[in-house]
Amino acid sequence: MSKIPFNRSDIQGNELEYLNQAIDNGHISGDGIFTKKCNSLLQSTLGIEKALLTTSCTHALEMAAILLDITEGDEVIVPSFTFVSTVNAFVLRGARPIFVDIRPDSLNADENRLESCITERTKAIILVHYAGVGCEMDIIMNIANKYGIPVIEDNAHGLFGKYNGRYLGTFGALATQSFHETKNFSCGEGGALLINEERFLERAELIREKGTNRSRFFRGEIDKYSWVDIGSSYLPSDILAAILYGQLEKRSLIQAKRKKIWDFYYENLKDWADENDIQLPIILENCDHPYHMFYLIAPTLEHRNKLIQHLKNNGIEAVFHYLPLHLSEMGKKFGGKKGDCPVTEDISDRIVRLPFFNNLKIEDLNFDYFYDF
Ligand SMILES: *Cc1c(COP(=O)(O)O)cnc(C)c1O
Repeated sequence: MSKIPFNRSDIQGNELEYLNQAIDNGHISGDGIFTKKCNSLLQSTLGIEKALLTTSCTHALEMAAILLDITEGDEVIVPSFTFVSTVNAFVLRGARPIFVDIRPDSLNADENRLESCITERTKAIILVHYAGVGCEMDIIMNIANKYGIPVIEDNAHGLFGKYNGRYLGTFGALATQSFHETKNFSCGEGGALLINEERFLERAELIREKGTNRSRFFRGEIDKYSWVDIGSSYLPSDILAAILYGQLEKRSLIQAKRKKIWDFYYENLKDWADENDIQLPIILENCDHPYHMFYLIAPTLEHRNKLIQHLKNNGIEAVFHYLPLHLSEMGKKFGGKKGDCPVTEDISDRIVRLPFFNNLKIEDLNFDYFYDF
């Protein structure tokens, strides 16, 4: 029996060659040749003003919070059904999270619940395009514009996904990407900040360079650089950028591989899901998703846990994720309590994620294990 891990990283193209090139170049700190190649590939493919590689999506979110001048007493609206960094980056600046519940179909922030979360203190709406299926951006941007509140897209799942034909990550004032090993494109640890509004361009560079204007100095725009703002060290090494470029360059290949796996799961699990009251992912009509993950929603918590155990006994590593943030130890400090986000609480008990990575061989997937259950 071959064991199928939940995730594993593999070489997809010229990563090793580029890594050697980066070393041969003699400069492996940040903003080298490969960092710039990644930035421009993201800019031209997505058609955006500016993309800046960062050390992680978490750090790109922290940059977003600094750029928005989030301070003590501000509120940010954010789904409870997300990775901790989506919220923590803003809490670090003193914000209080206002958790919005999700829709039971897309598992995205429910646009119909957004307006009731807005107060005079709301400084940002942070969205996650869960599994790379777009939030209802037309409706959400209308609400945000009506109140003049910036939208941040945590697009960690959604690179190259689209909503109404437009790339995710190009709607909000800022968007963030992750190149962690569990994402479609990876250099182990990495991220990017996408900047869609000109007013953030200059300051983003300063924040990313420890609060200095070193980027301007390197461009020859000033004759010395100095400390001009707050910031931190958010530049990844060019070695990581070289690995990432090797993957981004192969995006068509990678996306084709992932589509094949996703479709194979869907086709083979459809009947079983119907018979067992299991919900398969729902891809809304106006969304092109980037095949980031394959998940199932079991009828009950007990059913979900038994299924994970059954798959584990058969060598398949399935996992669950996103414990509701409003019920976490930190979330409770912000007043979170059971019943605040009923859909999140319910889905979180019942969701299962199946193994999904670029080099997963569909021949290795034996669906008897599901039908046996
Ligand atoms: C993976 C992930 C992150 C964090 O990404 P890092 O690059 O590991 O910091 C943030 N938000 C979401 C929704 C994620 O899935």
